[in-house]
Amino acid sequence: MDKIALTDKTDRRFMKAALKQAEKALAIGEVPIGAVIVQDGKIIARGYNRRNTDHTTLAHAEITCIKKACKKVGDWRLEGCTLYCTLEPCQMCAGALVQSRIDRVVIGAMSPKSGCGGTLLNILQNESFNHQAQVDTGILEEECTEILQRFFKALRIRNKEEKKARKAAALEESRRLSLPEGPL
Ligand SMILES: [Zn+2]
Repeated sequence: MDKIALTDKTDRRFMKAALKQAEKALAIGEVPIGAVIVQDGKIIARGYNRRNTDHTTLAHAEITCIKKACKKVGDWRLEGCTLYCTLEPCQMCAGALVQSRIDRVVIGAMSPKSGCGGTLLNILQNESFNHQAQVDTGILEEECTEILQRFFKALRIRNKEEKKARKAAALEESRRLSLPEGPL
């Protein structure tokens, strides 16, 4: 097997681990985004989106991963590490990744709304900063997109049902109020 195919296989394996993290977010009703950090062929940190659960904008999968990886290696520098994320990092996470001096970022699905790994901005590879990461995209893209679509589809159905229920309750209330008062 040539080197590229081997890398591809390894990347898919670690992206699968990131997807497992995304599933954890999905299980608690969060937007399903997951990430892992790998060093020397081993996962040293895992994280998933917990923004609503933890009531903080800092609870993105990548930030959680960076925190855990730093603790594990005992350094703020994550040189020699690769982050795998199911969705293209946002401006906050891409900024933190550059600050961590991580070697490589592997992305599953691109994010048209907040992607800063090349979609809206390319913070990860901006030559003005003192560090640029290698970026590889499209690893298990279909699976990474599918889990997000599954979440948003369920959310749309839930919102529709809630709207319907609210409308029915309002109608019921108006009917009740317009009823003639009974003898008391
Ligand atoms: Zn982020």
